[in-house]
Amino acid sequence: MNTAPFHYFDHNATTPVAPEVVAAMLPLLTEWWGNPSSAYQFAQETSRRVDRAREQVAALLNAQPREIVFTSGGTESINTAFHSALLVQPGRRHIVTTAVEHSAGLKCCEALERRGCAVTFLPVAGDGTLDLAAVKRAIRPETAIVSVMLANNETGVVFPVAEIAAVCRRHGVLCHTDAVQAPGKLQLDVGVLGVDYLSLSAHKLNAPKGIGLLYVRRKTPFQPYIVGGHQERGRRGGTENVPYIVGFGRAAELAMSRLAEENTRVRGLRDRLENTLLATIPGTFRNGAVEPRLPNTANLGFAGVESEAILMLLDQAGICASAGSACTTGSLEPSHVLAALGLDPARARSSIRFSLGVENTAADVDHLLQHLPPIIARLRELSPET
Ligand code: PLP
Repeated sequence: MNTAPFHYFDHNATTPVAPEVVAAMLPLLTEWWGNPSSAYQFAQETSRRVDRAREQVAALLNAQPREIVFTSGGTESINTAFHSALLVQPGRRHIVTTAVEHSAGLKCCEALERRGCAVTFLPVAGDGTLDLAAVKRAIRPETAIVSVMLANNETGVVFPVAEIAAVCRRHGVLCHTDAVQAPGKLQLDVGVLGVDYLSLSAHKLNAPKGIGLLYVRRKTPFQPYIVGGHQERGRRGGTENVPYIVGFGRAAELAMSRLAEENTRVRGLRDRLENTLLATIPGTFRNGAVEPRLPNTANLGFAGVESEAILMLLDQAGICASAGSACTTGSLEPSHVLAALGLDPARARSSIRFSLGVENTAADVDHLLQHLPPIIARLRELSPET
């Protein structure tokens, strides 16, 4: 039951912290607040809880607990993967990635470019999909890492990461995936994916912001990005954020148990929302392929209307959605993802992302379907172009 005083369709930006996660975290703030590196028994209980959380997040990925490095979130994990790949292979200074990565990956690559690395930003097709052959062609003898996101945060389009990782293995190139949008929505198994590095962020799966992980495959060469203490087996310095790590662990358990629901009930809500809007509001179009796509994401454009105006009126109706990623909200630039799909700037600027989550109900969708059509009609009446 959703008791929020608003209707939230922005789960790809962030999610509410689940009550079960808060309950798991609280004892680490009030009772077991010791430093996990301390030797006495009191602190060792804290350390045991970190170990337990490591097992829980490892299970989400079908990984070994020792392959998990806790970080401050998706952005740090992604930066760590790139820096590690470059540090362990000093002779290799080329990166392959896509033009539609989250700004965490894109900006990191741009910064590395300014420091002398060559970066290939692979284009995507008009439906947001990626051509596997283009990845193969882009790999050079000096390629240090290929980094391709598992699912796009704006369109929800899923990339063939297992196939890409297989190509990388054949060429002896490290492979990273930004899987931040995937847990709880897609089945994750690092054995199947075959990547060397994988980034996750807890706040996309009903845990707090500021905690994430980097999966580092056993025997994959690794160099830390944040150096300091010996924490995380020397792979990430800094005293562990124990309450958040424990919350992340509990959220991973919940995400696994809710996967079936996200893939059926949430998908059903998303499909009803999308199909109804496409059928009832003239000039509505979908951005990105229908499949393979995250079950919770719909990116729709409303020709002739500015997304900023739509979002403002939706907000007045108690509806939260976004135009592209939260990180670019407020910028006048159209989304780099929609631009990469080849949308002209006007169509890109008319697009809204609706991303659903486990706490959404049919009543939320009804509320949106009741309010959005008159909002679009009203804005079109006001628009000088129509
Ligand atoms: N990658 C993707 C696909 C994302 O959607 C996000 C979140 O906005 C990130 C990376 C960054 O994660 P964080 O906010 O934990 O730094």
